[in-house]
This record gives sequence, C-alpha cells and structure tokens, in this order.
Amino acid sequence: EPELAGDFGVLMGWADKVRRLKVRANAETPLDCKTARTFGAEGVGLCRTEHMFFDAARITAVRQMILAEDEKGRRVALEKLLPEQRGDFVQIFEIMAGLPVTIRLLDPPLHEFLPHAEEEFSEVAEAAGVGVEALKRRAAELHEFNPMLGHRGCRLGVTYPEIYEMQARAIFEAAVAVAEKSGAAPIPEVMVPLVATKRELELMKDVIDSTAKAVFAEKGRTIDYLVGTMIELPRAALKAGEIAEVAEFFSFGTNDLTQTTLGVSRDDAGRFLTTYVDKGIYARDPFVSLDVEGVGELIELAAERGRKTRPGIKLGICGEHGGDPASIAFCEETGLDYVSASPYRVPIARLAAAQAALKKKG
Ligand code: PEP
Ligand code: MG
Repeated sequence: EPELAGDFGVLMGWADKVRRLKVRANAETPLDCKTARTFGAEGVGLCRTEHMFFDAARITAVRQMILAEDEKGRRVALEKLLPEQRGDFVQIFEIMAGLPVTIRLLDPPLHEFLPHAEEEFSEVAEAAGVGVEALKRRAAELHEFNPMLGHRGCRLGVTYPEIYEMQARAIFEAAVAVAEKSGAAPIPEVMVPLVATKRELELMKDVIDSTAKAVFAEKGRTIDYLVGTMIELPRAALKAGEIAEVAEFFSFGTNDLTQTTLGVSRDDAGRFLTTYVDKGIYARDPFVSLDVEGVGELIELAAERGRKTRPGIKLGICGEHGGDPASIAFCEETGLDYVSASPYRVPIARLAAAQAALKKKG
C-alpha cells in the first residue's frame, strides 16, 4: 500500500484515527484509481462508465449502438464493446484490490453520443452496414431539446436493457477473472443512475441479477456484489422508503439533486448564482457547497426513510459536494457511511471528516 510521506502522512494518520466517515474516490481511469489509492481512498464511490465510451477506439461502436434501429442492431454493437468494457473493469478491480468499487451503469446525456460531423456519420454507416441517410433520420428522432431532463440514466437501461446487460456481464466477467488470477475477489457495487421510482430499479436489478447468475453459472464461480441506486432526483428522495425495498445502498448524486431541487441548470449556474450569493439568497454556490437547508433536508429525509425500510442500508454521497468540507460536516451529522470525492480531494476529505467527527463529539 503506497503511503503519503513525511508530516503530511503523519497528519493524515491522526485524521484517520478520529474520523468515522469512510472516504472513497470518484475514478474511472487506472491513473485516477492509482492516485486515489495513493491518497488513501478506501474504495471507488463512483466509476462513471460513460466516460469510458468516449474512447476514440470505441465511440463509433457506441454511436452504432445508439443509432441502431432495433435490439438486434444494438446487440451487434454491444458485442464489440463487451471485451473493451471488461478490460476497463479488470484494471480497476486489480488496482482497487480488497476495496469496494461502485460502478455506475451508463448515464450519458444522449446528445453526447450522437454523431454530428459528416465524417462521423460515414464511420458509423460503414461499421453498421447501413446508409448515412437512414442514420441521420434516426439521429433526428433521438434529438432532445433538454437532454439533461431526457433519455439518460436508467431511462436508457429501461428502454434498451441490453446495454445494461452488456455492462453487467463485463463487470461480473471481470470480477471472476480477477478473483481467479489474484485469489482475492473484487467487491463490486453496481449502481443504477437517475432512478425516480422503485419499478425502474426493480427492472434494472432483474437485468443485473439475471446476468450475474448467467455469468457465475458459465464460469463456475460466484462473486458477492451489491445493487444500489443513486438518489439524485427529488422524487427518489421522497420515495426512498419504497426504493430501499430493492436498493442495497444509496449514493446521493448531489450535482443532479441540486440541479433538480433548485431548478437551476448545473451547466449554466455560474451566470447568476454569484449575484444570488452576493444578495444572500444562497449562503454559498450550491453546486460547490451543499444547500444544507433545501437539498440537505431531502437527503435527511431519504436517509431516514431508507433506513426505516432497510436498517443499516449503506449510504454515501458522490456529487462534487463529497469533497467540500462544509458538506462533509453535513454528511457526518446525517450519519452517512462514506463520502466520495475526486482523487485529489481525498486528503482534504479525510481531514474534513476528522474535523467533523471531533466537532460532533464536542
Ligand atoms: C451527481 O449527479 O451528483 C453525480 C454524481 O452524477 P453525475 O455528476 O455524473 O451526473
Ligand atoms: Mg448525476
């Protein structure tokens, strides 16, 4: 285990003795995972798989999948993506050996995957063996005026379950392969994004569980795993009691939860929020430091309702706020189990978690 050197390492050691909150990292590349471990992350709290799909070698197959007319067409493209995706997870599981890894199933705003340039359409046409005109028609059908409120997150998994099936297969095949090679089983936590209702999660958990069963039967080996959900829509927070009947953990996606609770676009927020902070409407930029009174109340309510259904349900936070000291203090107060921050914020999160624990003790 790499250790932080010198006084910094000593300080971190002190912080670790007093903190209660675990600290994980948001990471999806091998480099991010290594950095996270060096800085003392106790797992990956959010692996955003959509980032992997932008890889230059894959994006054409991804576009082919999205633009396919039917399930058969999507499955042809997914076959191409499976080995690559399995390789991603093998690397992550190896680096994070012994620690939990929360893998979030695909959550793209769809428009990011659609081709725009003529050349991009030609590449997909060639890969899929269809005409450019047909692809353009399909792209026009998929166009959304408001992609962040559109066909993203589990909505994609509900309409095209074969996408999540491919990802689940990649996760479990990778986990079995790493377990056999290293002798130590990875600890996957499969996370479903943008859930608003229990039924969505139920449908997606069926896909994940049946895929796990199939892979374990093929390989003659099982791996323990959890299935859980992001809580990042107000409806999910309100219905957390029901959702916890299916979810084995919750991870609060405070970027989207802030966006949807305040009704402020996370992408355009800077335009007027500084004025809002100047005029005392919000104490700080709510996308940086948790709006404890509003979004925080939804988190408290969801934690309470989730725990009532499933005592001891694992609770974490993986929005940008997971690396913000004031927000971490709120997470300590609410009794969450872990915060997940970008790798370079892990040391700050360890210190903030210690400070929050000391303050709570009084
Ligand atoms: C979130 O919404 O807080 C989150 C962690 O997911 P993403 O930022 O990828 O939407
Ligand atoms: Mg989100």
